Amino acid sequence: MTQEASASATRKKVSVLIPCYNEHSVLPLLFARMNEFIDTMPEYDWEIMMVNDGSSDDSMSQIIHMHIRDKRWQFVDLSRNFGKEIAMMAGLDYISGDCVVIMDADLQDPPELIPEMLGYWHEGYDDVYATRKSRGKESWLRKRLSLSYYSLLQRTTRIPVLQNAGDFRLLDRKCIDALRCMREVQRYTKGLFTWIGFRKKEIKFDRADRAAGQTHWNFWKLLALAIEGITSYTTIPLRISTVVGFITSIGAFIATIYFLIKTWILGDPVQGFPTLVILILFLSGVILLSLGIMGEYIGRIFNETKARPPYFVQSTSAQRNPEPPSAQASAQAHTYTQSR
Ligand code: UDP
Ligand code: MG
Repeated sequence: MTQEASASATRKKVSVLIPCYNEHSVLPLLFARMNEFIDTMPEYDWEIMMVNDGSSDDSMSQIIHMHIRDKRWQFVDLSRNFGKEIAMMAGLDYISGDCVVIMDADLQDPPELIPEMLGYWHEGYDDVYATRKSRGKESWLRKRLSLSYYSLLQRTTRIPVLQNAGDFRLLDRKCIDALRCMREVQRYTKGLFTWIGFRKKEIKFDRADRAAGQTHWNFWKLLALAIEGITSYTTIPLRISTVVGFITSIGAFIATIYFLIKTWILGDPVQGFPTLVILILFLSGVILLSLGIMGEYIGRIFNETKARPPYFVQSTSAQRNPEPPSAQASAQAHTYTQSR
């Protein structure tokens, strides 16, 4: 092999996956910053995959203009807004790189961290994830809630969920293939990253504030994602409702004996209206809560059994990868190599 041919054989392609929803004001800044950045690393082939998640502003036309000017910029335009989790799934179906860096469009995740990620990737790590030293401009309540949520999730699941790690990370092709095997529609990707395993490496960074525009997450959306996270990860809540049901049954049994003795032996006249009301209210509460918890899981079963395609594509500049490889095929595809 000539030197040039061997260099091109080892030349790696890096995909950058950016989900984008109504990012009109931030896209010009993103284009400029990314172009400046990738020009500093000509030793790689670059592909920047913009997934337009049904934006209603002019994000899509900006992306098309960028694609026309520079073919390193590719796009997948989804048929409507499916949410960031599905947008990332769609992106993974279309990228062609040896590895992918997932980042937000709003420049909260600095592209300047990519060289460090690539360094660890070359050392053999498959999932280099960035954790936030600081969380940028977020309300005190959101920070607190988020921290308590992670510690709850951590305690109820067997697989550790990484606190303060977002979706900003570099994934090797192995991880991409593994994630593509998992086609569930109600996704909590942050959990999936951990679930798939592979060699992980943490790096730390200061999360910047949004470069422009506004966050798309409000309290309710975050709450929905939080419930998603727990129900897609663990069945502990079901067990908790069984345990609570069991304990209340024992309590009810003891109370029954107590009241029977009181009425029969001590001949207590009819009394105890407040006790009755309290018991009815408490038990109905427990029953409704357990029903709700069960409902969450049945809802998930309902959504997954419909087996609908997770998304539809309006148009794209890229080729969709072949159907997701089965876990076995993907294992065969990755034979051992000492270094990348
Ligand atoms: N996003 C998306 N679809 C959505 C909502 C958000 O693709 O329905 C994208 C958004 O364009 C951004 C990223 O997800 O690139 C993170 O969104 P945002 O900055 O609003 O979230 P935050 O940083 O506040 O958690
Ligand atoms: Mg953001």
